[in-house]
Amino acid sequence: MHRLLHLLLPNSCLWCQLPVQHPQQQLCNYCIAALPSLSLANHYQNALLLPAVWRGLKPVRFDLLHSLSWYQLPWSHWISQWKFQQDFACGELLCQQFALACQQFAASDCPKPQAVCFVPISRQRRKERGFNQAQQLAAVIAECWQIPLLDLFHSKNTQHQVGLNRQQRRANLRRQFRLHHRDPLPEHLLLVDDVITTGATIDQLCRLLRARQVQRIDIWTLAITPASIASLK
Ligand SMILES: [Zn+2]
Repeated sequence: MHRLLHLLLPNSCLWCQLPVQHPQQQLCNYCIAALPSLSLANHYQNALLLPAVWRGLKPVRFDLLHSLSWYQLPWSHWISQWKFQQDFACGELLCQQFALACQQFAASDCPKPQAVCFVPISRQRRKERGFNQAQQLAAVIAECWQIPLLDLFHSKNTQHQVGLNRQQRRANLRRQFRLHHRDPLPEHLLLVDDVITTGATIDQLCRLLRARQVQRIDIWTLAITPASIASLK
């Protein structure tokens, strides 16, 4: 019903269905103002400085983690609609919010990465879904900051990670990824994933990047799960 309403009334807010103030907007001004976000302005734009984050991500092989929000409503709803229901209005909204965060980050003193890469999905998953959401988010950053978008990783993983605990995820992920890019890599790279739960996927990819002498790795995501919740999974 929600999707149908949005198709019939393309200028209605994706969250409350009231009319939006600008035709390009996916949310009305009230919902924009009420949108829960992770304010990192007092933490050097780095969510790793939050105990609820680093406690759940040990070991940490990267330098900065930037997330738009905790994994909570309405973000979790939009992410799942985009990823599993191919609801591209939700995808557009999330990309717009990502672009907004890029602009805000650019205004900070934090060093900008030289290139951006993304968490891969397997060929089978891409066939099912038709797109890689992490790649689309990475493209937003590449365009916003005018830096190269690198397709670095190959994934042969076909098993869904949903429903697995931390140890099962790590075992499943080991040897599932390959870095197929042969040229020298930039010293400062940004890696994008749509959601970070246990950090196991990111950890495996950072391991590959560190082996190729990448000095600084920044991670960007839409939403992260706090440590106390992630440890229950
Ligand atoms: Zn609204």
